[in-house]
Amino acid sequence: IWALSNPMKMAGWLLNDVQRFIASAEKVEDLLKTVPKIASHDNVVPIGEYKGIVEFDKVSFSYGEEPVLKDISFKVKPGQTLAIIGPTGAGKSTLVNLLSRFYDTTSGEVRIDGRNVKDWELQELRKGMAMVMQDIFLFSDTIEGNIAYGNPHTSIDSIKFAAKMADAHDFISDLPEGYETIVGERGVGLSGGQRQRIALARAILKDPSILILDDTTSSLDMETENRIQKTLKSIQKNKTSFIIAHRISSVKDADQILVMNNGAIIERGTHEDLLRKKGYYFNVYKNQYGNFEEKHRDEDVI
Ligand code: ADP
Repeated sequence: IWALSNPMKMAGWLLNDVQRFIASAEKVEDLLKTVPKIASHDNVVPIGEYKGIVEFDKVSFSYGEEPVLKDISFKVKPGQTLAIIGPTGAGKSTLVNLLSRFYDTTSGEVRIDGRNVKDWELQELRKGMAMVMQDIFLFSDTIEGNIAYGNPHTSIDSIKFAAKMADAHDFISDLPEGYETIVGERGVGLSGGQRQRIALARAILKDPSILILDDTTSSLDMETENRIQKTLKSIQKNKTSFIIAHRISSVKDADQILVMNNGAIIERGTHEDLLRKKGYYFNVYKNQYGNFEEKHRDEDVI
């Protein structure tokens, strides 16, 4: 009964290195109770209260021998959206992973609110971020618990509110136990699209300063994409947003678009700037919109 007519690419959630690999809510609970080992230093910023000014300053990175990011610099302010487009393997996901310190730069600095991310306490750094990724991970817990993840005192009203915004409330209500339904390894299976909506509800509820969407809407049908884009637009206000996408429609409204290839920024600017350049972005646009027009011409003939 809960199969979706349009399967979507899945999304995930930013979890710290340890939590990422733990599939049980109990273990996470224990983890959350653990007192952070790193003592606060003098100028510690209260958890989740940073503004979200993000700067990459001549950042280079490699996993091994080969450089994967080469001399990347940009700045994004709260309220702005930075979109990244480019072929698979260009380094887009790696770039956003440096932000949450899944990895550290090989050279150069990543700064949030003017402070090197290496100088932040990890929990503090990640508390202000939410990431919706391609691969989503659900805990063996209730839907409610999965949406409220890490915040056991969240009210059911705010969980429902977030689920409604994420277009998830209807399918959740149709499940045998509603919000109490156990999902994850030990519970009912959800479709990729349903898991994605839960991840989105989580992000909405978390209300982060920095929102990272990694290829979240590329396989959605047009109607669902439009609906989710609208929600995203409304939650992006006052946040610093990163959007990694393949579709021009997902990036065209961004304040800045970075076009990446082979670890480097090959073009940058707004949608209009990039169209005028008649380079890589322009060609992607021509391909996507060219095909789109052709498709519609075909439909007209039918
Ligand atoms: P994109 O997101 O643009 O597809 P990625 O950032 O995922 O690109 O990958 C950039 C390059 O880094 C690719 O060549 C990829 O194979 C490599 N890469 C990605 N993750 C790892 C990893 N964990 N270890 C080693 N190489 C990696």
